Amino acid sequence: AVTTDDHEWDGACHTADGHPVTILANIGSGAEARAAQRSGAPGVGLFRTEFCYLAANEEPDVADQRSAYAEVMSPFAGKPVVVRTLDAGADKPLPFLDAAAEPNPALGVRGLRVAFDRPGIVDRQLEAVAAAAADTGTAVSVMAPMVATAEEASWFAARARAAGIRQAGAMIEIPAAALCAHEILDAVDFVSIGTNDLAQYAFAADRMLGATAGLNDPWQPALLRLVDVLGRAGREHGKPVGVCGEAAADPLLAGVLLGLGATSLSVSTSALPAVGGTLAAHPLAKYREAAQAALPAAGPDQARQRAREMLG
Ligand code: PEP
Ligand code: MG
Repeated sequence: AVTTDDHEWDGACHTADGHPVTILANIGSGAEARAAQRSGAPGVGLFRTEFCYLAANEEPDVADQRSAYAEVMSPFAGKPVVVRTLDAGADKPLPFLDAAAEPNPALGVRGLRVAFDRPGIVDRQLEAVAAAAADTGTAVSVMAPMVATAEEASWFAARARAAGIRQAGAMIEIPAAALCAHEILDAVDFVSIGTNDLAQYAFAADRMLGATAGLNDPWQPALLRLVDVLGRAGREHGKPVGVCGEAAADPLLAGVLLGLGATSLSVSTSALPAVGGTLAAHPLAKYREAAQAALPAAGPDQARQRAREMLG
């Protein structure tokens, strides 16, 4: 068990009335994977593969990618690992995928978009991921970053399935994708909400900018309402809806996300014990009530306050 000042956590998590909650780790390297495993993470909800190649000037070949991914996956043999395909661009430029200079890189050819006229990039990566999964015995799924439409989600899912990967998902980071939740859930096996970018694009507020941090507050009711749309759609389709952005790392907000219908949360290793330890405090119905109280708030402070009154 991992103990922090307030919490003890042994990797398992359930609400006070016994509903299991899956809390996974966000990682980007072998060292982070080993630390997550030592902390008791039962799996990985977001492996940011671009972090393996931030300095690469040329596209790594399949063999190179296979061994890099296997190193990261190996601590999680027999466990679930959600691999995100390369999310290049804007705050995470990759030299070998450098697009032409763009006036607005956050709105440009980034994430999955880089692969539309160069599908070999995603196909070679998927081949390497499938091979690394076989090498390490991990239960791998893949998801694409910056999916905007259901057609893009289908395009990606078909390629993942052709590579022999069982589960294909879409990250929901663009408000248009949240509005097409049903069609996207028809196309893929799961979705994972990237609240960092979803907030940035919903509020037209640069996530890197201190001056717009208030709009990027994950307690903003508009962000919660987008999560609500996705939670409802996930329930209707009977498919998982994860949250892997920073929002999930706030233990109080984690309860609200659960109440909005998130089926798993993925957070950095340092946040695992606090989030994992806190969700056992109340029954699921209480998290749902807190979510319903926070949704119609006038602003983030009020949403937080309402949740704190019910869960605090
Ligand atoms: C997100 O956007 O919330 C996310 C999890 O992806 P990243 O932070 O890597 O953009
Ligand atoms: Mg993102």
